[in-house]
Amino acid sequence: MPVIKDAVCSLCGSLCDDITVTVEDNKITKIENACILGHSKFVGMFEHDRIETPMVRKDGELVPVSYEEAIEAAAKILVNSRRTLSYGWCSTSCEAVSGAIQLAEETGSIIDSTANVCHGPTALAAQEKGSPSASLGEIKNRADVIVFWGCNPVHAHPRHMSRYSSFSKGFFTEKGRKGRKMVVIDVRKTDTAKIADKYVEIEQGSDLLLVTALRSIVNGHEDVVPETVAGVPKAEVLELAETLKNAKFTCIFFGMGVTQSRSKYKNGDAVSSLISDLNQHTKAVMIGMRGHYNVTGFGQVATWETGFPMAIDFSRGYPYYNPGETGANDLLVREEPDAAIIAAADAGAHFPQKAVRHLARIPVIQIDPYANPTTEIADVVIPAAVVGIEAEGTAYRMDAISLRMKKLIDTEFKTDEEIVKDLTAKVREMKRGV
Ligand code: SF4
Repeated sequence: MPVIKDAVCSLCGSLCDDITVTVEDNKITKIENACILGHSKFVGMFEHDRIETPMVRKDGELVPVSYEEAIEAAAKILVNSRRTLSYGWCSTSCEAVSGAIQLAEETGSIIDSTANVCHGPTALAAQEKGSPSASLGEIKNRADVIVFWGCNPVHAHPRHMSRYSSFSKGFFTEKGRKGRKMVVIDVRKTDTAKIADKYVEIEQGSDLLLVTALRSIVNGHEDVVPETVAGVPKAEVLELAETLKNAKFTCIFFGMGVTQSRSKYKNGDAVSSLISDLNQHTKAVMIGMRGHYNVTGFGQVATWETGFPMAIDFSRGYPYYNPGETGANDLLVREEPDAAIIAAADAGAHFPQKAVRHLARIPVIQIDPYANPTTEIADVVIPAAVVGIEAEGTAYRMDAISLRMKKLIDTEFKTDEEIVKDLTAKVREMKRGV
C-alpha cells in the first residue's frame, strides 16, 4: 500500500508540507501530521457531497449533461455576456489561476479573488506602504516576540503555532514556547488569547488608534498618547510598545480582525508603518494570516500577469484595477455583471445578500468539486478534481513561498486547469464562428 510522505495540505494558508498519507485502493485511509481541519479535507472528500456530473439548468432544474455539453453551455454564456464577473480561484492551483486570467482577458471580464472579502485591504496597504516580511522559516528560527492581531490561529490555522511560530523550536529559538513572548490583540478573548503571555483587549474597530499610539511611543512621543487608547490603559500600551521594541525579532501576524474592521486598508498601512518604526530599534516583520490555501498564489500570478493582485477589469482591452469599483462585491451590489463564473469559492454562502440576489438573477457558471449554496443559483455546474489530492499544482504559502502540491489519488474529474483551458478554447471557437 503506497505511503506518500511530504504531501502538502491544501486547506489553509499554512500549507503544511509534512503530511504523510496512506493510500489503499485509491482511497486515503490514514493521514499523519495534519490538524483536524486538514484531516477533514483529506478524509472528508470521500464523505462530503461531490458534484458527480456536469449539469445544466433546464426548466429550472439542474440536469446531468456531458462534459462537452456543459463546456458549450458555459462558453455560450460567456460569449453572449457583455460584463462577466469571474470570482474565486483561491482554492486551486496557480496554473488554474493563470488559465482563468487568460479566459478573463479573452472575454473582457473582471476577475477577482476571495481576497475581496478577506485580505484585499492588505494588498492595498502593501502597495501604499510596502509589506516588510520574512519567511515562516525565519520566524521559526529567529522571532522571540510573536503578535497575533485580529486572528485566531488555534481555530483557523491550527498547526501554525507549532510549526512556524509560538511553539516551534528553531536554530536561535531552541527553547520554543519558553523562549518566546506571545501577545494577542483582539476584541474578544479567543482560544489563542487564552494561551498568550499577554492579551490586549481592544474596542471593536479601534485597531488604527492602537497602532497610531504604539507608533507615537516607539518614536519617542509618548506624551501625546491619552490615558486610554482603544479601551486600553496607557500603561498597558506603553508596556506593549516596550515589548515590541526590546525584542530581538518581532513578527506581527494579522488577520481579518484588522483588515475587515473599521479603517480597513488604513489599518494594514499603519501596521506597515509601525514595522518600519520598529526597525529603527530591532528587526520586525508582518505577515497576513491568509485563509484559502492559495489566495496568496492568486495575488502572485495576477500581479506577474497583469500588474495587479485582484479586482482586474479587462473590459477596456487592458488590465484596469480599482478596488471599490472593480471588486466582486462592488460590481454585484451595483448590479453590473450580466454573467458570472464562480470557481473554487462559494460566493453563495459568503457574499452579502444584495450581491447574492443579483447573482441569482444572472447566468452563473460554477466550477467546484463540491455542491454548496452557489450550486443552488448556478446555471452550468462543472465538477472539478480536488487540487492537492486528486491533482498536482503549485500554491503559495501565506509568506509567499511556493510549494508543489502532490497528486495522491486518481480521479475521473478534470482539473480546474483543464476545464478553464477547454472553456477558453470553446469561447475562441465560438467567437471565430467555427
Ligand atoms: Fe492543513 Fe492548515 Fe492544518 Fe496545516 S494548519 S494541516 S495547512 S489545515
